[in-house]
Amino acid sequence: MQLAAPRAPLGLVDLPTPRPGPGQLLVRVRACGVCRTDLHVADGELAQGKLPIIPGHEIVGTVSESGAGVERFAAGDRVGVPWLGYTCGSCGFCLSGRENLCDAARFTCYHLDGGYAEYVVADQRYCFPVPDDYDDVAAAPLLCAGLIGYRSLVLTGEAEHLGIYGFGAAAHIVAQVARYQGRKIYAFTRPGDKEGQRFAQALGATWTGDSTARPPEPLDAAIIFAPVGPLVVHALRASAKGGTVVCAGIHMSDIPAFPYELLWGERVVRSVANLTRRDGEEFLALAPKVPVRTAVEPLPLAQANEALARLREGRITGAAVLVP
Ligand SMILES: [Zn+2]
Ligand SMILES: [Zn+2]
Repeated sequence: MQLAAPRAPLGLVDLPTPRPGPGQLLVRVRACGVCRTDLHVADGELAQGKLPIIPGHEIVGTVSESGAGVERFAAGDRVGVPWLGYTCGSCGFCLSGRENLCDAARFTCYHLDGGYAEYVVADQRYCFPVPDDYDDVAAAPLLCAGLIGYRSLVLTGEAEHLGIYGFGAAAHIVAQVARYQGRKIYAFTRPGDKEGQRFAQALGATWTGDSTARPPEPLDAAIIFAPVGPLVVHALRASAKGGTVVCAGIHMSDIPAFPYELLWGERVVRSVANLTRRDGEEFLALAPKVPVRTAVEPLPLAQANEALARLREGRITGAAVLVP
C-alpha cells in the first residue's frame, strides 16, 4: 500500500520484491502496526520524506533472505523493524548515546519503505529480536507505540502522579509499564470520550477525565500523545512545581501563548524524538516482565486507508495492525 502524494489515499500496487543489499535483511512482513506518524506522513504534515513511500514502521516479520555480511540474524528468524532505520555512527549525537538525534538518520516509513507491504528490506543493525511471548500481531505495536511510550516514560523520571493525555496505542502500553513501576495514572481523553475513559480505567488508571479537567492531585509529570498543542497548556496547569510535560508526538498543532506563571516553579516542557537502539533493547526486555498486553485490531493490508481514517477520527481502541 503506497503513498504517491500527500493527502491522497494509499494505492494498492504490485512492486517487485526488493533485494537485500550488504548488511540488509529481506523481511517477509507478518504484521505491521498503524502509528499516528503514518497518518502525519499520509496527511503531508511531515514534508521532508521520500515519495512515493510505503508507510509502516511497526513491522514484525521473518527473515527470508540476508544480504552480504549479515551475521546478527538468519533466515527464519523473527525480527522487528522500527522507525529508526539508519544513523551515521560518527557524529556528536551518535557518539554520546543520542543516535535518535543524528542529523543523517533515516527513518522507516519516511525515508525508507516500510511495512504496509508483503516484504521490506532493513539494515540488520537496527532490527530487534521479537520476544517469544507475543504473536506477530500482538507484538507489532510494541515497535513504536511501545518504544516511544517507554522513552517518554523514562523522561518523566521518578514521577509518581503521571498524567497521560490521549489514550491510544502508545498510552495503553505505557500505562501498563507505569502501573508495574508503582506509579499512579491520570488519564485525560477527548472531552466526553467515555469509551476511552473506560479503556483507561480497565488498564488501571487511578483517575480519568476530560483533557480540560484538573486532576485531584497535581501531576509530577505528564505525557502528551495527542497531537494537540493546547494540551501543553492544560498539562502545565495540572502540574506540580518541578513537573515535566513530555510531548511524545512527531507533530503537534501550535501551542497557544500562555502566562509565564504556568512554567514558573521549574516546570519543564520537552519533546521526545525518535528512539535509540538502546530504548528498544530495554523496552523489549521489560515488556514480557510487566507483562504488557496489547489491545489490537487486526485488519487486512488492503484496508490500510480505512485503518488510517479510523485512527484520524479516534475510532480505534488500542492499536490497528495490518496483516498482509
Ligand atoms: Zn550521527
Ligand atoms: Zn510510530
